[in-house]
Amino acid sequence: MKKSKNALVILAGGYGKRFNNKLPKQFNEINGENLIDFFLNRIDTNIFDIILIVTKKSFQKHTKHLKTKYPVIKFMYAEAGNNRQLSSFNALKKLDTHKPDNVLIHDAARPFCSNSLVIKIIRNLNNNESAIPYILSADKKVLSKKEFNKTIKLIQTPQGFKFNTIYRAHLNTKEIDAKDDSGLIPFDKLKLIKGERLNLKITYPEDLNYFKLFVKPIHKSGIGYDIHQIDTKSKKGLKLCGVKINFKKLIGHSDADVGLHAICDSIFGALSMKDIGYYFSNKDPRWKNKNSEFFLKFARDKLKENNFYIANLDVNFICEKPNINKYRKKMISKLSLLLKIPEKIISIKATSNEKIGFIGDGLGIAAESIIQITNDKLY
Ligand code: ZN
Repeated sequence: MKKSKNALVILAGGYGKRFNNKLPKQFNEINGENLIDFFLNRIDTNIFDIILIVTKKSFQKHTKHLKTKYPVIKFMYAEAGNNRQLSSFNALKKLDTHKPDNVLIHDAARPFCSNSLVIKIIRNLNNNESAIPYILSADKKVLSKKEFNKTIKLIQTPQGFKFNTIYRAHLNTKEIDAKDDSGLIPFDKLKLIKGERLNLKITYPEDLNYFKLFVKPIHKSGIGYDIHQIDTKSKKGLKLCGVKINFKKLIGHSDADVGLHAICDSIFGALSMKDIGYYFSNKDPRWKNKNSEFFLKFARDKLKENNFYIANLDVNFICEKPNINKYRKKMISKLSLLLKIPEKIISIKATSNEKIGFIGDGLGIAAESIIQITNDKLY
């Protein structure tokens, strides 16, 4: 079966009159995620060939970062119209040149929609012109005797459509201020599917408290290990965790700071990146005798770019000499300075190799680092 071409439209152009706040609700952030980030971070965006965010030019600063976050996806900006119907129509007009098979139209104000609902909608579009999620109202409202026993269906987004069906509906409709796309297509093309109770809509400022409940801080861990040979002919020049130590130096392409290299690798690991050799090859003349603080700052910048903070850092040296304990405090304050983190979350430990193997023979120094990072701003 030919894979269908899927487009996702996120309507994020509204000011949210009921929200009554300077910053539109969809751009409120918790742990560095706004409502649009939250939704996109939790669905499989690879399902979509195109993601189109409909927003006002003046709001683009809140969505620009998504372009780098999802490089495989084409982001297009359609100017938000004066009402929901126009915004939706603008998006479909833009999508028409890409001729998608299916389109899902979603309100940015519903960040909690799950990936399984997205997949269910797309699967339903295989055999239906539309797939509109709904939930039953918990309260039975009696409007008249005739209405009694009628359960009220609450319609949600994303609403899925065959592209041509919804585009034609928008082109031909006499409505000018439809609050929802499903209302524009003929009744016989309407396929209602079960939505999700948790797919709540953020409407009022206090609804943001739901958002706070949903957004749990993320914790990730990384491990790093490095070893360098001691230059037994040298007398001085050792540097560990950026601290100069009066001891024989280590052999390496850069300044061979085995401690900083292990820390860098643990940060890269926590961020699911590659190892230090990938970013700073020991064949690259640019890194010859390079101060390893440069590599650590690169790793620190990556943390910042990804909105992560260090929760704790645990470094372990394995060597016979020098006596690491003597330099512990200095190393901790240096790392605190370089990484811009409090000293109390750094640990420097050391162990000897019990005179076994080449470390035991005093021929090398090894370091290992374990780090935990979080997107919860702790300090
Ligand atoms: Zn190294």
